[in-house]
Amino acid sequence: MSTISGAHIFAKKALLPDGWAENVAITVSDDGHISSMQRDTVPAGNSVGILLPAPANLHSHAFQRAMAGMSERRGQEAHDSFWTWREIMFRFLDVLTPEDIGSIAAFVQMEMLEAGYASIGEFHYLHHQPGGTPYANLAELSDRIIEAAEKTGIGLTLLPVLYQHGGCDRRPLAPGQVRFGNDPDRFAMLFELAAGTMSRLPEDAVLGVAPHSLRAVDEDGLTAAIALAGDRPLHMHLAEQVAEVEEVIAARGTRPVEWLLRNAPVSENWCLIHCTQMLPEETAALAKTGAVAGLCPITESSLGDGIFDGVRYTENDGKFGIGSDSNIRISLSEELRTLEYSQRLRDKCRASIATPEKSTGRVLFEKVALGGAQAIGRKAGALATGGFADLVALDEKAIDLEGREGDEILDAYIFAGDDRMITDVWSAGRHVVREGKHVKGDAIRAAYRKTVAALRMRL
Ligand code: ZN
Repeated sequence: MSTISGAHIFAKKALLPDGWAENVAITVSDDGHISSMQRDTVPAGNSVGILLPAPANLHSHAFQRAMAGMSERRGQEAHDSFWTWREIMFRFLDVLTPEDIGSIAAFVQMEMLEAGYASIGEFHYLHHQPGGTPYANLAELSDRIIEAAEKTGIGLTLLPVLYQHGGCDRRPLAPGQVRFGNDPDRFAMLFELAAGTMSRLPEDAVLGVAPHSLRAVDEDGLTAAIALAGDRPLHMHLAEQVAEVEEVIAARGTRPVEWLLRNAPVSENWCLIHCTQMLPEETAALAKTGAVAGLCPITESSLGDGIFDGVRYTENDGKFGIGSDSNIRISLSEELRTLEYSQRLRDKCRASIATPEKSTGRVLFEKVALGGAQAIGRKAGALATGGFADLVALDEKAIDLEGREGDEILDAYIFAGDDRMITDVWSAGRHVVREGKHVKGDAIRAAYRKTVAALRMRL
């Protein structure tokens, strides 16, 4: 998708780094950066209502989008945890082709753009053919994700995943996991091949590294992944479920967060996904590293993972962003609402992370925009010159915004409204959502319908 260059955007209201401003004009350079910004000016170019920095969706497994709504039955166990969900996923993994994966990825990226995200961290662990044999091109499926991003115009941070073992005891991969597996040497080859394809994307695209988890990666694998990443984004699942914490304690003698902070150089380029199972001292210690906690509130609710301690983490200046993970539902406003409501339900309070100066919606939105950009290695997250023009516009005529001013706009969007308020989205200057719809939405939706119908026949 070509960059919409030299664009002028005018907003009646805009959230700038130092607060709300009126009649703001923004110029976007040919390479997708915000090159100038002026307040109190007059309309010119694309005119929008309310302009905000468009956050990153920092954690996604694209193919799981096609499973949404298929895993809500109970298995044989009295206490159903992952069981039915995992069964459905394994059935999918038996049949998904590269074409399927490309079609699903384009669809979910398009939905993310329409939901107000400008960019994505794709935590990509599905590498091989059904049965586990690599494709002739080791990076075949990474290439399909990259091609989808070319089609949709989303800002891609691709995070190829190193997955070595079936558990902390280094057991072999289970039949459902064989499409994920690589040793560190073959993973380095895959990474190099993906880097070659990534060079086709615009300059905002980023390649990072994702050692899957302390269950799937051993100490040598983690060391290799850290070396390969250098100062690129490094993402890892951490402390999602109680059973995982118990498994890590049994194998390594300490809890997962505690083990990682003692044994790895966790810092600003790290993003730790979930962290729903932490003791208070782990929460405070993780916040102090400068790493980003990658929260996935809708998926964590769907899977019954637990509740991230956002109150304590924020009190310790912790950074966080939002990811849609299983992609059971793509909604930025609902992710933010679910995160805040989970804190309220646990603590029996209101406005859990608001400050005397800023409302709940304002704190949530600003933290997620900045944290998401940091996590995926993207110079964005605020409306500021020099950063990429990742922008989302809300319709100031939306009924829930009637009479709302300042922070109340974000509170009404998150708690009363939804993504239907979104009129426009730019990703690094690419104007891909207009009047609430992706510019290639019809074709991408039609292709996805065909993919899902054909998949259903093969499951
Ligand atoms: Zn995940």
